[in-house]
Amino acid sequence: MTITDYHTHTFRCGHAVGTMREYVDAALQAGITDIGLSDHLWLYFAPAGDRDPRWAMAEDQFDAHYSEMLEVREEYRGRIDVRVSVEADYIAGHEDELRAILSRYDFDYVLGSVHFMDGWLIDDPDQAHRYREERVAEIYRRYFANIQRAIRLGVFDILAHFDLPKKFGFLPEEDLTAVVAETLDLAKDAGVAIEVSTGGLRKPVAEIYPAPAILREMKKRGIPIVLSSDAHAPEEVGAGYTESLALVRAARYDELVVFERRQPRKVKLG
Ligand SMILES: [Zn+2]
Ligand SMILES: [Zn+2]
Repeated sequence: MTITDYHTHTFRCGHAVGTMREYVDAALQAGITDIGLSDHLWLYFAPAGDRDPRWAMAEDQFDAHYSEMLEVREEYRGRIDVRVSVEADYIAGHEDELRAILSRYDFDYVLGSVHFMDGWLIDDPDQAHRYREERVAEIYRRYFANIQRAIRLGVFDILAHFDLPKKFGFLPEEDLTAVVAETLDLAKDAGVAIEVSTGGLRKPVAEIYPAPAILREMKKRGIPIVLSSDAHAPEEVGAGYTESLALVRAARYDELVVFERRQPRKVKLG
């Protein structure tokens, strides 16, 4: 029986609380069998002086953070599977830097995200007014265009919060089924998994990422899934999993995928 939580953040990222060991202990308590430590990669795409410490750890902290993940993975071996991971931003124009950085570490999996578009942090509550200033559907289209480029880059094993622009409850004015389908086809061809994240339940939209209709399209294509919480505090590990498991089962998923050293392996959903 396997239950993953493949998206967690520790105090090091500047906007979460808790240490790695607190997260792993919380996972044990919550009945999670496979936990990924996936703090944000430093803001490699911004000039060193412009890297806001509220969004990610500093570059010079990352090696110590990585070593600690390796230690924690060993420490808990036999009790729970701990995965060494990172949540890395896809930023158009910075692909080579990202590829070079990721190649320096031996991650179990890399979680790919689009949080920034043209310097706008699209999931920042302080910048959410931007959704009122242009057509929401255009924002979604730009977002999915970025996700498609991220998939094509070939460095991400799992896509995080697949329909993130819905976070504040701004929904597109038109049907975007076609662009979503095109994006899912690409993910399928590239062998990229997509997380089912309860993070959205704790946000104004109050909905799991991705939406049920998208999850059904994923299942049709056989796109592998992981379960995750995007926990920013140890007590959020596995949060909302009753809803998440119900959603996943309603979409007729009976398997998850787990990652070890970038190798996916299908397992029965617990
Ligand atoms: Zn994220
Ligand atoms: Zn995250």
